[in-house]
Amino acid sequence: MIKARATLPEGYDMPFRGKAYKLKITSTLDKPTVQIRGDSLTVNFYTPHPKVPVQVPLVRWYRNRAKEYLPQRAAFWAEQMGVRYNKIIIKDQESRWGSCSSLKNINLNWRIMMAPDDVIDYLVIHELAHLQEMNHSIRFWRLVGRFDQHFKLHTKWLKENGRELFLILPKLPVSILNKVTFYC
Ligand SMILES: [Zn+2]
Repeated sequence: MIKARATLPEGYDMPFRGKAYKLKITSTLDKPTVQIRGDSLTVNFYTPHPKVPVQVPLVRWYRNRAKEYLPQRAAFWAEQMGVRYNKIIIKDQESRWGSCSSLKNINLNWRIMMAPDDVIDYLVIHELAHLQEMNHSIRFWRLVGRFDQHFKLHTKWLKENGRELFLILPKLPVSILNKVTFYC
């Protein structure tokens, strides 16, 4: 049904903002939810025989966390950097982390929520810096470095770990994502 490249068994270490939460899959007769409970990330299906794979509620949960968190970080860093953007758009791209459009929109991939906080900030700073320097010139990296002294470590982190984050929760068709209701 889904060409997910990774299966996510119970107990899988789900990364969220740099911490690993054990995946727990349960069923409830109440509202279906996804929530962090202590050290676990619990997916509460409405039925013990769900029609969709566990990735579906997880993708939606991460995307909602991204919609809450990333605009805050962007607002914070834009003020520090003295730049102005138009909109923050949370994207579900298959291989890109982010981009900055000529309309001054900042696009950020929700999967960055699986990275540590300082890597999330690096991505935000990187895209915001493109509002001033639409390239990857020395001037661009100097600007990034002014707000993230460890940007080299953070690009390295993304290079080494990023691919895996795309494999854990691959892009799913919208028709499947919207198949079931979840409160998350
Ligand atoms: Zn760039």
